[in-house]
Formats: sequence, C-alpha cells, structure tokens
Amino acid sequence: MCKFALMGIVQNLQKVQSSIPHSVTLVAVSKTKPDQDIMACYEVGQRVFGENKVQELSGKYERLPKDIQWHMIGHLQTNKVKYIAPFVSLIHGVDSFKLLVEINKQAIKNNRIIPVLLQFHIAQEETKFGLSLEEAKSIITSTDFEKLKNVELQGVMGMASYTENEAQVAKEFGILKDIFDDLKQQANLSSRFQTISMGMSGDYQIAIKQGSNMIRVGSTIFGNRNYDV
Ligand SMILES: *Cc1c(COP(=O)(O)O)cnc(C)c1O
Repeated sequence: MCKFALMGIVQNLQKVQSSIPHSVTLVAVSKTKPDQDIMACYEVGQRVFGENKVQELSGKYERLPKDIQWHMIGHLQTNKVKYIAPFVSLIHGVDSFKLLVEINKQAIKNNRIIPVLLQFHIAQEETKFGLSLEEAKSIITSTDFEKLKNVELQGVMGMASYTENEAQVAKEFGILKDIFDDLKQQANLSSRFQTISMGMSGDYQIAIKQGSNMIRVGSTIFGNRNYDV
C-alpha cells in the first residue's frame, strides 16, 4: 500500500512538472510530510523542497541527502535564523529589515551568502504577512541595506487571497509582478534579482500566466496535509 502511495506522489510530481515551462522552478512543499515522501521525489530528480517550520526543516536537512536545496517558505522568527543559516538555499518570507540584519549576521558566522526574497502583502486578507512596495523601497534604498554584504536579495514572494475568484487571484499576482518590475529598476540590486515566487497548488497556473518563475506546490504533489497527527 505504501509503495503505491509513493508512486502516486511521483506521478503527481511529474504531472506538475510537465504542466509548467522549464523556466519555472518547482519548489515541492513537503511540510508535515515524512522523509520517504521526499525521497520518492528525490529519486526521480526533484532537488528543491520547501518547508515552513524551522525545526522540521533542520531535522529533514540532517537526515536527507545533502544536495537537496532547502527553501524556507514560512514566516521566520529572528531568533530562529541561526538554526537554518548553515544550509538554507533560499529564504522566501523576509518581511522586515530586522530579519535581514539577523540573516546577514548568521550568514557571516557561517561564512556564506544567503539568498532571500522579500515577501509582499498582495492579498485582500488581513492575516497574510508581507511588506508594501513603499516599505520595501525604503529598506532597499537605505544605506544600512548596502552594508548587508552576506544577504543577496534575489526577488519577491507573495500569496494571493484564498478564493475561487480567479480574476481576483490574477489581479493580486499582477500586483506582485508590477512590484518586482518596479524594484528591478533600483540601482543597488544585484543582477540576480530575478525570482518571482508566487503560485501554490490551487493557483499556480494563474501565477505563471502573471509572470511567476517559482511556484511552491504542496498538496497537489503530496496530498492533503493532516495537522492533527
Ligand atoms: C503550504 C504552503 C505552500 C503550499 O501550499 P499547497 O496549497 O499545499 O500547494 C506554498 N507556500 C507557502 C508559503 C506555504 O506555506
């Protein structure tokens, strides 16, 4: 039974892969899922996985192959940056200058440069984290930002409203694309400011149409998550 379940995961993964352009990076969101589910994807070539809890991410990093690129996609608390700084490939949800400073500090300790994305508030819902364009600009143009040599700002990330209204979702992703284009004009950003992380299981096709080049897909690959266990 277990074997068939894993085959199903691989089929789901391959279905998503074949439905997106090669230019779009697929982050397989494995939060709450066991190591064996990740390994099933790994064995067919998937290398980029996303997690949203520091402890779970660190545990999986310790146990699983070291050529996996781990993305932190959840809200990151300043006091937990140190646990993932040695290995994390990309931090998606950066929404304050304070967090950037801490990531820079821990990156220096680990003698590396940590790539990050700024998270923007594009949804109508109140609950989602994220910056406004004005807040991001004031961070990026500050002289303090230039001193953060060990963080590399590689792009933007956002989540659309959780709604059936596809026009609304498309509009919100369009806002993030516009924010990306606007920020890209800022003189002091690196040439590697190229990533637009938007789109999840329910809306990644819409996101790609709006210019996404990195999607974060969990339940469509791994099945629904059960938070009760
Ligand atoms: C859980 C999560 C996803 C994946 O969600 P699915 O709907 O299962 O694809 C994507 N992005 C973030 C930030 C998440 O927390």
